[in-house]
Amino acid sequence: MALVTERTAFHRLVTSIIGIAMSFIKSPPKEKSVKTQKRKSLKTSRSRAYQVQHGHCYYCHQPMWKESEQELVSRFPITSKQAQLLKCTGEHLVPHSEGGEVSQENIVAACLFCNRTRHKAGKALTSDAFKTRAQYRLSKGAWHGLRLTDGVSGRTH
Ligand SMILES: [Zn+2]
Repeated sequence: MALVTERTAFHRLVTSIIGIAMSFIKSPPKEKSVKTQKRKSLKTSRSRAYQVQHGHCYYCHQPMWKESEQELVSRFPITSKQAQLLKCTGEHLVPHSEGGEVSQENIVAACLFCNRTRHKAGKALTSDAFKTRAQYRLSKGAWHGLRLTDGVSGRTH
């Protein structure tokens, strides 16, 4: 039974990835503003990154929520307010301000806390340095202080 469920989930994942790929191939350039297109592709890239990372933040490796913080509140002993910090956001590995593009390679899914913190003070740390910092701080009980799982991200680079 579990296998069947997994297979179905896998099939769904594959179908949706193919769907996304096909939509890129098929759709002619739309007459939308550049800003709208960028926002849309950031959202698509973020959703794909979220799936690849099994719903975990690229930096702190904690689970995130996509539609509602209840996704986490119902699974872990945290409040809605705490869960706000773990909202899934699209994060540029190479910051936008440094020429980083909205491409699947440059977008990962990161929790709101990590995303905000990385870009708060001037020039952002490299994504690797920031990941190391996030995990170190979190292991000391600092950072956002929410260690809900051992958090293994599906994406390792
Ligand atoms: Zn995070």
